[in-house]
Amino acid sequence: MEYKYKLAKLQYDKEKIEGLISRQKRRAGQVFPKQLELEFWEQYLERARDNINQYFWSGVLTYFIFILLIVPGDYWIIDKTHFRYDFIHSLLGLVNGALCLLALFFFAHYKKLKPFFPWASMAIVLWAVISMTWLTMTVHTEALKHQAMMIICTIYIMGYVLTGVKPFHMLLTGLMAAIIALIILMVSFVKIDVMVMSRVLVGSCVMGFLISKMLCTRERMIFLIMHQAKISERINIIHTNELLHLSQHDELTKISNRRNFDEMLNVLYDQAKRNKTALSLLFIDVDHFKNYNDYYGHQKGDDVISSIARAIKDAIRHMDFVARYGGEEFVVLLPETDAHGAYAVASNIYKGIDRLAIPHAKSLVSKHVTISLGFTVYRGEADLTEHEFLSVADQALYRAKQLGRNQIYFQSMQTEQVA
Ligand code: GH3
Ligand code: MG
Ligand code: MG
Repeated sequence: MEYKYKLAKLQYDKEKIEGLISRQKRRAGQVFPKQLELEFWEQYLERARDNINQYFWSGVLTYFIFILLIVPGDYWIIDKTHFRYDFIHSLLGLVNGALCLLALFFFAHYKKLKPFFPWASMAIVLWAVISMTWLTMTVHTEALKHQAMMIICTIYIMGYVLTGVKPFHMLLTGLMAAIIALIILMVSFVKIDVMVMSRVLVGSCVMGFLISKMLCTRERMIFLIMHQAKISERINIIHTNELLHLSQHDELTKISNRRNFDEMLNVLYDQAKRNKTALSLLFIDVDHFKNYNDYYGHQKGDDVISSIARAIKDAIRHMDFVARYGGEEFVVLLPETDAHGAYAVASNIYKGIDRLAIPHAKSLVSKHVTISLGFTVYRGEADLTEHEFLSVADQALYRAKQLGRNQIYFQSMQTEQVA
């Protein structure tokens, strides 16, 4: 029953996801229900952190090549009258950039710092925009100042794309950084064209926002499709398990069916043969059950079959295996059990059914429902087949019936004897 509830819940979740997918197709960037939205951003952040960890060394190499290209270039273009001042600023800019990237890596990499990653990312972007604007705009060489645009734009885009912070949060951070940078430049009387500088700062920030919004929309779709696939997989697993269960169990008694018994017999027989250990097999049949059905009706007969199955199950040990062999016949496999042990289990079963005391007015052997039980033991003999084992146990049951029913009969695989 629990599986049916689980299945219904999963089907419901799947339909909801399908609805979200079709809505996402019609209108990009829609917000998911709360739990899903939280999961999405959690995954988005996690992936950003993974990417930073994964590409750390290639990032270091790229930055190193960047330094190798920039430093000689700066040496070449810097105005000779302010060479020391401008060159130091340029070097500070490179070191500052490296430290920002390193700080981002630490927050993405170290477990204890991970929870602070989004806040740290925003703080790093804020710092990077302000400090780099200051460093690039306070030089004397005009050509160096022109690099500011490229540097600021790169910081914003990296802030949006690398960190996995929600685009809106990064937009607010970026705009705040732009305003602070502009104020600092203005109060420090740095010679800048405020209009151009504002356009560079705000323009790059808004452009980064739009790019990351577009990327997020694609990520949202991928997230939904993956979520749908996960739910489908779970539904399939439940279906498969249920089918397997149905194919191995009996609907009326809920115990194993004959197909499952055949497989178990095969496995346990091979095991006993290989290890030379004893394996006992019990055949159980209800006495005069046809009369019971005729007198009490088929429905009551079904109830009796279920009660007997339960009683057998309660009477055996946890390592034993019971199955409904067909009609009102049951089989029990007792691994690593010799005739003495098997007789003890058989008596337990017999007593268990006796205790049920189900009235049977039409039985010719008792006032209550009784069983006949035949069993045999296989001791790993190489010359005895599985089929012979089965048929000797069946013969034992037949003998119990022949001898008057309502009894236990043991038949050895070689000779016959009454237990
Ligand atoms: P015996 O003592 O020789 O075993 O006599 P019996 O009447 O029990 O004979 P047998 O074992 O051959 O009878 C099987 C009867 O069990 C026939 C059928 O009416 C009944 N039966 C078989 N399967 C079911 C079932 O699923 N439900 C019910 N109610 N009866 C069943
Ligand atoms: Mg019978
Ligand atoms: Mg029968």
